Amino acid sequence: MQNPQLSPEQRNVLFNKATEAPFSGKFLNVHKNGTYVCANCGATLFTSDHKYDSHCGWPSFDDSVTSAVNYTVDTSHGMIRTEATCATCGGHLGHVFNDGPKRTTGKRYCINSLALDFTPAP
Ligand SMILES: [Zn+2]
Repeated sequence: MQNPQLSPEQRNVLFNKATEAPFSGKFLNVHKNGTYVCANCGATLFTSDHKYDSHCGWPSFDDSVTSAVNYTVDTSHGMIRTEATCATCGGHLGHVFNDGPKRTTGKRYCINSLALDFTPAP
């Protein structure tokens, strides 16, 4: 189900698997405590504890909230990548790579800001 309040840009990312321009996302340099939720359905996807600065141009996390994200192999654009989607609504979030921080999970969740909303910690 698509949330009617999404902007055309958000809709394009979440349901047409578009990618926002690097370094354009509003959550790239946010370092506040809180949770990142799906812009479409509001499911909690990531917490600020797992956000880190990967310098890749998109908000990056080394782990998701348990069971919040589904993974599928994406062979588009001549690459083999792991696509991350919202487990609740199926919206496209971004991709997961294996070049994340070695001291934690080794994963880099490269996520579009347009697919997320932020709820600051109280
Ligand atoms: Zn969702």
